Formats: sequence, structure tokens, C-alpha cells
Amino acid sequence: MNDTNNNLEAKLYSKVSPDEKQLVRFGRFLKNKYGKDIPLEWISSDAFPGGFRLEVGSDIYDWSVGGRFRQLRDTLVKVPTANGNIIPLLKETISNWTPEAMAEQVGEVTSVGDGIATVSGLDLATYGEILLFADGVRGMVQDIRVDEIGCVLFNDDESVTEGSSVRRTGKTAGVPVGEGFLGRVVDALGVPVDGLGDIEAAGYMPVESPAPSIIDRQPVDTPLETGIFSIDSMFPIGRGQRELIIGDRQTGKTAIAVDAMINQNDKNCICIYVAIGQKTSSVVQIQQTLKKHGAMDHSIIVTASASDPAPLQYIAPYAGCAMAEYFMNKGKDVLIVYDDLSKHAVAYRALSLLLDRSPGREAYPGDVFYLHSRLLERAARLSDKIGGGSITALPIVETQAGDVSAYIPTNIISITDGQIFLESDLFFAGQRPAVNVGLSVSRVGGDAQTKAMKKAAGTLRIDLAQYREMEVFTQFASDLDDQTREQLEYGEGLMRMLRQKQYHPKTQHEQVITLVMALAHTMKGIPVDDVTEFIEGLITMFEEEHSDICHKIDSTGILDDDLRKEITEIAAKYRAERQYN
Ligand code: ATP
Ligand code: MG
Repeated sequence: MNDTNNNLEAKLYSKVSPDEKQLVRFGRFLKNKYGKDIPLEWISSDAFPGGFRLEVGSDIYDWSVGGRFRQLRDTLVKVPTANGNIIPLLKETISNWTPEAMAEQVGEVTSVGDGIATVSGLDLATYGEILLFADGVRGMVQDIRVDEIGCVLFNDDESVTEGSSVRRTGKTAGVPVGEGFLGRVVDALGVPVDGLGDIEAAGYMPVESPAPSIIDRQPVDTPLETGIFSIDSMFPIGRGQRELIIGDRQTGKTAIAVDAMINQNDKNCICIYVAIGQKTSSVVQIQQTLKKHGAMDHSIIVTASASDPAPLQYIAPYAGCAMAEYFMNKGKDVLIVYDDLSKHAVAYRALSLLLDRSPGREAYPGDVFYLHSRLLERAARLSDKIGGGSITALPIVETQAGDVSAYIPTNIISITDGQIFLESDLFFAGQRPAVNVGLSVSRVGGDAQTKAMKKAAGTLRIDLAQYREMEVFTQFASDLDDQTREQLEYGEGLMRMLRQKQYHPKTQHEQVITLVMALAHTMKGIPVDDVTEFIEGLITMFEEEHSDICHKIDSTGILDDDLRKEITEIAAKYRAERQYN
């Protein structure tokens, strides 16, 4: 309150002038509130026919009819609606209701433009608080200065003009959450945009909330299978992990995320896809793809497209995270994709520059690191005591010409538990997914890999690293000795084996059998172009004739030496029956 202000004046608005007794009562009220006598001026106003409105500095006490209605409405909103017996409850609430002298802060817009409003007179507004402008436009406090605040607007700023009034709401930004959102496409404020009608929310969660503490967490030890061969075998992801997908534009970043979502169909994992600054048409396409592959009913799409105001793009990932937290707190596993955080950082930069914050490296504001760390820290695996739910985050970052040392990529690499690095050269050479084995890493996922996969993948990474080295080394060599040529062919075969079509996630047994077979050099002598066909045939044969082996791998996740030997023998026999030249 303005108690530091010595020149406090009170203005009383009403249609009819107050009588002596009322003036004495107002004087006493002011003295009680502010601890001293405050000069009171009466101003005749037709706007308050049935009551008084008292303004002291930026505090407002509303005893007018409109104000009392508003208070009554606020009380009624809180009435529980249980059992459908609303009428008696309403009656009771209304008869018990007495108007309060409610302090309400009202400020004034001093300037507005580019989705940013500067407001004066709201001394007590806090960072992140939602403000209500004329015509119901909402905004969020983003910048607090000595005598004014900067506020970003969520809707069109046309109805907000210089001099229009602003009210505090006392609430921070939040989104509705609940099971009703599954299968839906919503905007950054949780409003459906798919034309399928209203969504019944189970609650309301703040967009920004603290990450779970260390005590509330437990180590990552359960795999989150993506169904993508090169990732599950070499850079496994665990539930609760944050794994960055990074690469130039058009290198299949989104494709990896979408495939991982499709692979959760029967894995009891809810998926949330947050589209930031993308074309609406791409989002529609993703929705249709998910639907076609049966993944939409366990997914939510949160979208703030390129045409949405920067503030909406800015809060979209936090809104998606709040929705994920709702499920995590209920003990469920959630996979959330932020596509992509480069565009998110750009939206935040636009917003910060408009708010007059000083630009730092690459013109981003100084707190852009904190922007992403507070988002990604919210991914966690909760301890069993509080339900054991998890949020696995797959943030996506776009690089320029493969430069991972730019500001945003280095920031996010340091916040996440590893990265899948996608490379244009590989992509255009037909090696898709274009995972660069040398630069990709998963720092915690190894613990989460099933024993079978770990054992089967064995030396794959090292073999591939050797192959790459040798490939560079022998690039210009004209005659190779047999051993070198054999090793090159082996490496080439492995690379070909890792190629995978979109929307074709591979099961555990498929990956384990392929790995065991390939690392035992079973494919020796098979021309590279026949590798894919050979593997497909082999897996079909295993599934048809040795379904017990497939089932054993899927259900136990264990690969003992006997099983390994058995698989190798069956594969060798299959290979021997085929002629290649
Ligand atoms: P952007 O930078 O535009 O967001 P991106 O890196 O997300 O691009 P995608 O949109 O996922 O890339 O993929 C680019 C193109 O490559 C798409 O047409 C997609 O169908 C194709 N593609 C991606 N992965 C594969 C794959 N494994 N096999 C074949 N085609 C693929
Ligand atoms: Mg993409």
C-alpha cells in the first residue's frame, strides 16, 4: 500500500453527496487503514449510482453496485459444485454474503505497441502476475522498473490504448489441465484450436513452477524406448531424462520425435508435443500423422505457431510442461517434445528487446540460459513415495551449418543429459536417421537400457568409430589389403543396418536379434544394397519360426550367452541358405 507516500489523498466517487455521518465513517476507515488522517475529496460521478467508490493512491475500495456484484460473482465461483445440488448452496452463499471493503489496484497504460504495454500505478504487481486490461485482454508482468512495469499482452493489443485502465488479478499465468486434453490440439493458454469443442479441465496449474527437489527424485533406470534403432542401441534414453535432438534444418529432427511418440502406443506413456513458432500447416500434419498411427489418443499437442504473438510462443513450453506435470504427479510417465527451443529463444529475445532489456551475446538477453534451464529441470523421475511418475524431455534445437558452438546450442547442450546430433551430409547421403555417432551421447541412459540391448549392442559404437576413421584414412587409397577392405565392408553394412524408415519403430527383439547377428559378422559378403532386405527377411523368419525367442527378449529383457549363441546359429543358417555375390 502507499503508506510511504506522504501526499496521500482520498477521492470519493458517488452520484449523491455523502452526508455528515458517512463522511465521518469514511474518515475513520481511512485512519484505520493508513494510520493517519487523509484528506478526502468528494467527486460527483454518474458512474456509481447506487454506492461509493473510494480511491486512495492506487488502492480502490469499491462499494458501488458494480463492485459488489463483482465481489459476489467471485464468491459464487468458489462455491463447490458437488453432487449437482447447486441451488441450496447458492442460496446459502447469497444469504451469507456481505460486501467487503476490497482493495483493488488499478493502474493506467502509459504506452502500448508490439504486444507490450507499459503500465504505471501498479506498485504491488509481481513478476509473472496476470493483469486484466480493457475488453478482457490479458497480459503478464515481465519487467518491473522503478515507477512502471512492462507487461506482455496475450491477445491483440488493439483495444488497449494509452490511458486505459488495468487491474491486477493476483494470479500468475496458468493453464487448465486434465485427461480431457488427451487427443486434442490446444494453444499456449490451453484453449482448444482443433474445432472439437470445449475441454473439461480437471484443474488449473501454474505455468511456471519449481522443479522437483533432489529428495523427490530417483535415478533414471527405466528405458523409454524410442523404437529408433540407432538411438535405442547406442544413445538410450531413460524415463525422466532430457535428451537434446540437435541438427541443421531439414535433417529429420521432428521425425525422430514423432517416431518416438508413435512408439509409445502400447507403452503406457503419455506424449505431449509442443510446437513453438512453426507453421500451422506442419502442426496439422503432425496431428494427422499421430492420428494415422494411433498415437493421438495418448497425446496432446500444444501449439504457438509462427503467427502467434511472441508472448504466447514464450509460454507455450511452460504450459506444455504444466500439463505434463499434472500426469507426472498422478504417477504416470510422460514424454514431452519441445519443437523447437531455438525459436523459443528467438521469441524471448524479441520480447526482451521490446521490453528494453539490454541485449547480450547474439542479442539474447542475459537470462536466456535460465529460461531453458528452469524449463528442462522440470523433467524428472519422481520417487516412489510420491507416485514414481516421470517427465522425459526431448528438446529440439536447430543449428546453422552444423555449428554446435553457437550460444543457444551450447546452453542447451549443457543443461541436457546428452544429445542426438543429426548431420546434413549423412541425411543427404541417404543415411536416415542422420545420427552422427561420434558427436551424439547419452549420459544417463545406459543405466536405463535393458540388459539384452546393452549386451547385444556391445561394440557397435566402437566398430562404427573405427569404420569412420578408416573411411577417411583410405579415401584416396587405390589398392587396399583384404583385411582393410573387409573392415570397411563390415562398417558399411552396419551403417546400412541403422537406416530406418519413418513411422516404422523397431521392437526390442527386432533390434536385439539384428545386433547379435550383425556384430557376429553374419552379414559378411552381403552387398550393401541387399542388407536391408536381408535383415527384414531374417526378422520375419524369427517372428514366424522362433517366436519364443522374440517373446523371451521382449518380456525378460535378458540375453544370456546360450540365447545369444542360439540366435547367431539360426542367423548363420539363414545366411548360408542365401546366395549373394
Ligand atoms: P525443420 O528444420 O524444417 O524442422 P526437421 O529437422 O524437423 O526440419 P523433418 O521435418 O523431421 O526435419 O524431416 C525432413 C524431411 O525428411 C521430411 O520430409 C521427412 O519426411 C524426411 N525424413 C525424416 N526422417 C526420415 C527417415 N528416417 N527416412 C526418410 N525420410 C525421412
Ligand atoms: Mg522440425
